Amino acid sequence: MTHITIDFGGTNIKIGLVLNGAILAHSSMPSYSGQGIQGRLDDAERAVRKLLGEQGIRMEDCTGLGIAIPGIVNSAERQVLSIHEKYEDAIGYSFDGWVRERFAMPFAMENDARAALIGETAYGAAQGEKDVVMVIFGTGIGTAVMIDGQVLRGKHHQAGVLGGHLTTDRQGPLCNCGNRGCLEEFASHRALRPRAMESRAFKDSVLSAADEMGYLSVIEARLSGDGFAAAYMEELVSHWSAGIVNLIHAYDPDAVLLSGGLMKSAEAVLPLIEEEVHGRTWTPWGKVRFLVSSQPDASVLLGLSKLLDTKSN
Ligand SMILES: [Zn+2]
Repeated sequence: MTHITIDFGGTNIKIGLVLNGAILAHSSMPSYSGQGIQGRLDDAERAVRKLLGEQGIRMEDCTGLGIAIPGIVNSAERQVLSIHEKYEDAIGYSFDGWVRERFAMPFAMENDARAALIGETAYGAAQGEKDVVMVIFGTGIGTAVMIDGQVLRGKHHQAGVLGGHLTTDRQGPLCNCGNRGCLEEFASHRALRPRAMESRAFKDSVLSAADEMGYLSVIEARLSGDGFAAAYMEELVSHWSAGIVNLIHAYDPDAVLLSGGLMKSAEAVLPLIEEEVHGRTWTPWGKVRFLVSSQPDASVLLGLSKLLDTKSN
């Protein structure tokens, strides 16, 4: 009954063995996603076999394999249609062939944010919710949407997953997606330092001396009284909120589920986001509820397992 699940993230590849909505065992390795997917599949296979060996589970006892990819995925055909700056050789690659040859078991594939939302609504913080927008603040910003209990996929397989590419400043910088001023170009982890460096005040900030700049370092600098960090945080909250308002206006959810690295600081940022979003949304029926993922590292793997369950029914 065990499912093998593999999440090809931009920074790490996570592998999990899932049984009845719980992760039995997991491992992780750097993804080197710029080097393409094909070599990484071999590494993933080795890691799966190692994990099964450690758990004393035989391959024959596994009933399905799931893969999540951070791109536009045709889940019905199990193909990657488009992906930027990582795993580019995954486009058109026969994952079906790879699974048939190496694992010979049922196979499901999905966009990573969609898989996360499926995991969260089945087993996580959004359990029982039917109308949810999910926003994952990671290296980039991933989104997914569920309406009336159905995860949104759309005719061209891109419905709901391009929320990181909603415009939050129409005069903003060019994004690799082709648009200008995308949310992700302003307020994702990878954008924090490049955007901060455009400000003259940055050189006086404690942040300019740090090697790494992440969500947490901006929040900590703000709390320590850093003037630049306070102003920068206000700008970031404004972009995050604009993106969420756009998603609420587009998809009419009951709840917004937030996840990813930024939510490790949920206590500091969530009240700011909530206040701004509630002040800017047109929802005459009431107020959208905010939820925070309780197991952000597990939701993609659990979602893939749920998809395999659905497939076998
Ligand atoms: Zn974009």
